[in-house]
Amino acid sequence: MEKFYITTAIDYVNAPPHLGHALEKVEADAIARYQRSLGKEVYFLTGTDEHGIKIVRSAESSGKKVEDFVNENSKKFLELVKILNISNDDFIRTSDQKKHWPGAQKLWKILDEAGDIYKSKYKGYYCVGCEAYLTEKDLVDGKCLYHDKEPEIIEEDNYFFKISKYAGEIKKAIASDKLKIFPESRKNEVLAMIERGIEDTSFSRPREKLNWGVPVPGDDSQIMYVWCDALPNYISALGYGSDDDSKFKKFWPANMHIIGKDILRFHAIVWPAMLLSAKLSLPKNIFVHGFILSEGKRMSKTIGNVIDPFELINEYSADAFRYYFLREMTPFDDGDITKEKFKEAYNANLANGLGNLVSRIMKMSEQHIGHLMSNWTLNVQVMKGYKNLMDKFELSKTMDLIWQEISNLDMKIQETQPFKLIKTNENKAKEIIKELVIDLNKIAVMLQPFMPETSEKIISAIKANKMPEPLFLRKE
Ligand SMILES: [Zn+2]
Repeated sequence: MEKFYITTAIDYVNAPPHLGHALEKVEADAIARYQRSLGKEVYFLTGTDEHGIKIVRSAESSGKKVEDFVNENSKKFLELVKILNISNDDFIRTSDQKKHWPGAQKLWKILDEAGDIYKSKYKGYYCVGCEAYLTEKDLVDGKCLYHDKEPEIIEEDNYFFKISKYAGEIKKAIASDKLKIFPESRKNEVLAMIERGIEDTSFSRPREKLNWGVPVPGDDSQIMYVWCDALPNYISALGYGSDDDSKFKKFWPANMHIIGKDILRFHAIVWPAMLLSAKLSLPKNIFVHGFILSEGKRMSKTIGNVIDPFELINEYSADAFRYYFLREMTPFDDGDITKEKFKEAYNANLANGLGNLVSRIMKMSEQHIGHLMSNWTLNVQVMKGYKNLMDKFELSKTMDLIWQEISNLDMKIQETQPFKLIKTNENKAKEIIKELVIDLNKIAVMLQPFMPETSEKIISAIKANKMPEPLFLRKE
């Protein structure tokens, strides 16, 4: 059986989940469910990243012990995954000393044995927000691009990793699409980064500065740099470094890493360099999504435009949430949301659109078709173009295609008016209703990766030949 290994980035637990985390989960879930529908054996991993100085400081400022702080926040990410109906197979936590640490430490040792780890003095910038060492050229007006904050200047003895040694090989893999980056613009961005020159990166921090992380094997005075410990989650979760690495043998390399654009460098350069040094295969694809904005601005407490994912899901539903983030946002650009926009899209396309269509068709079928239903062969051939778009991970375009079919069916009802025709030409009307049900079934099948609960409800209604309870209640 063909396998498909898909991961989200692991979420940094310095704060509770926001919409960006939820977006990444639903994108990954739609792809995972689609791949399963093709008959592949899918392994879908998500989890939380729990080390680093930012977490220690956030715990301190909330007056909590670091362990308690990460446990509490990690639980919220797990809740988000559940409430969004995400079909992940595993949830990894980097503070898990049994499951994660052995793999991270094994990889370190292999990099070291390859001669790619060396000790040196680091003097330069560190953005705690990014948990990243920055160079002069990463700064805009002396500030980090993502955090609008001046980085800290640090000077310490660290271990370094020879990324530079692998720059040529990585460039080749990316340019040839052996390691394919979606979209193309992000691929070009990485190639330009490599072109400008890759410097070796610091891979550890002194324990006296940071005492919360994975110890460096063989040197108790040093703790692994948070990214050096986070990236190996993609293999430690499969059992790399543990006694049972059968999943690792089966599922590595990853078919797809889904990430945000701010961590592209770590996934397209640092991680491949680590894998090359350890003589492990490179992931096949990296899917880079944009950020979520509200009226063109980043969400922030200061502006007061933050939308809590839990609130939105509880007020509407997981499927309504999934609809908005998979259809109303294009996967590779920044997307925009306000509560008002969300409600408008919900009312127009779910309550009045899909929901209304299902009621109308199933009402006619229940009234006029009756028992004939069980003898039908429901044609589940998906629409032309659907597979083509899904294979290119064009999630919102695939949803557009489904909604095009929804409005085609609406039009067909308007034009043929089977509810009137039934009085004058019963056979013809029944034939039309039957066609409508078959098309509705096709829509339900195509919706499955995106809106699994809704898809199931429609399919059950068709099987029972009964008009279902309204799928989406209009919001005033
Ligand atoms: Zn930053």
